[in-house]
Parts: sequence; C-alpha cells; structure tokens
Amino acid sequence: MRKKIVAGNWKMNLTLAQGEQLINDILQAGLKLAEGQEVVVATPFPYLTKAKSLLKNYPGFFVAAQNCASEKSGAYTGEVSAEMLQSVGVDYVIIGHSERREYFQESNAILAKKIDLALAAGIKPIFCCGEPLEVRQAETQNAFVAKQLEESLFHLTEEQLKNVVIAYEPIWAIGTGLTASAAQAQDMHAFIRSQIANKFGREAALHLTILYGGSAKPGNAAELFSNPDVDGGLIGGASLVASDFVAIIQHL
Ligand code: PGA
Repeated sequence: MRKKIVAGNWKMNLTLAQGEQLINDILQAGLKLAEGQEVVVATPFPYLTKAKSLLKNYPGFFVAAQNCASEKSGAYTGEVSAEMLQSVGVDYVIIGHSERREYFQESNAILAKKIDLALAAGIKPIFCCGEPLEVRQAETQNAFVAKQLEESLFHLTEEQLKNVVIAYEPIWAIGTGLTASAAQAQDMHAFIRSQIANKFGREAALHLTILYGGSAKPGNAAELFSNPDVDGGLIGGASLVASDFVAIIQHL
C-alpha cells in the first residue's frame, strides 16, 4: 500500500567510470522488483544524466540528486536548481542530509524552501531527519525530530506530502558502523508516522514511505526492514559496493 524504497547515497565518491560500472553491476544482478518497490541511486550532479540513461529501460529504478538550491534561479554561482534537475530527468532529491545541515549550515527554514522548489519542479524530496548522539543520550530525540518535521514539512498540503519520502538517519549511526537497533528504528519511525498523522491525517501517514539510514548493510537490512514502520533504507557506504547494495535490496 505504500512504496518500499532502497536508495543509495553515493555522497562525494566515485568517478564517472566507476559510477557507470557500479550501476551496470547492480543491473547485472537481474533484480526482480515487486509492485511498489523502488531502487534509487543518488549520484553526484555530473553523473545524473548518465545514470538516468543507464536506468531508462529498468522499471522501478530511479535517479536522485543529493541536494538542490534553495533559490529558484539567478546569480547563485555554483548552485544547481530543482528546475535544472527536472530538466535532466531527475526523479528524487535528497534534502536535509545531516552532512548538509552540519557542514553547509542548512537550517530547517532553508530546507523548507528546498522542499517547496523540488515539489514545484515535480521532483520528489527524500527529506532527512535525525538526532545527534548527545540528543539520543539525553533521550530527547523525539522532540528534536518533531521540530525538524514541523519546521521543514508542516507548511505543505496533504496533496504535496504524497510526493515526499522521509528518511530517518540518526547522526550517530551514519558512517560510524553503529546502527540503530531494530527497536530504536521502529520506535522513531512510528513516532514520525504519528506526527504526520496528527498534522496531515491518518491516510497521509499510512501512505508515507519512511526510510532508515545509518550503517545499514546486508547483515542488518532484513531485521531493520522487517519493522512495520520501516519502508526501506537510505544507504551510504554499502551503496558503493554492488553486491552489498543488491543484497540490501533483496531484503526489501
Ligand atoms: P551510511 O550513510 O550508510 O554510510 O551510514 C547513510 C547516509 O548518510 O545516507
């Protein structure tokens, strides 16, 4: 009833040739995606068109950018707009990854603007939220994530929300080898869904795809994905190795 997605976030890794090889290796695995299952690859900007053309004949495979500008167009040297992404056929865009929030000072308010521009351009945002270690240790992660949702998503209409995917990525689990336990992931995903239900209604919440991210790998994907509110994963490190990425997809 709601989409299940495994998305690979390549971050700032791989050359074009390596990226092409990786996509070809993934396709070689001959994955059979069930109805409602999707695989997304979030490549660096310069590879998006290539990725799109490699995946063209593979239903269920989509391309994502890792970021977009918070302004529509104009004199913003070095920025890439949502409209530009749309013009090269990009399907999804990751918005608000913790690395963007931390290293590029992207606030909840800036992310709200990016969400709006992506949706206006017909690109589906994968909105990332998640708490740092000190917040988890203080056990205030629910309030922390609720604020992220409220300030970046709660201005949307229910109709707009249908095109948004949420990724819960506890910062302490990203690239660290530490994974949230299946119970920790389920608790937070259920909390996120309840927040969405309160604001947008039960129907909207039931249809929302919520991905888990943070050291997801072949060995823990099955357990993570078996939770009722975990609808797939946003995969960093393990998405760079075709066999690992394919194994994770097979647990969807
Ligand atoms: P990781 O990254 O799988 O390498 O922990 C996840 C992410 O940052 O999207």
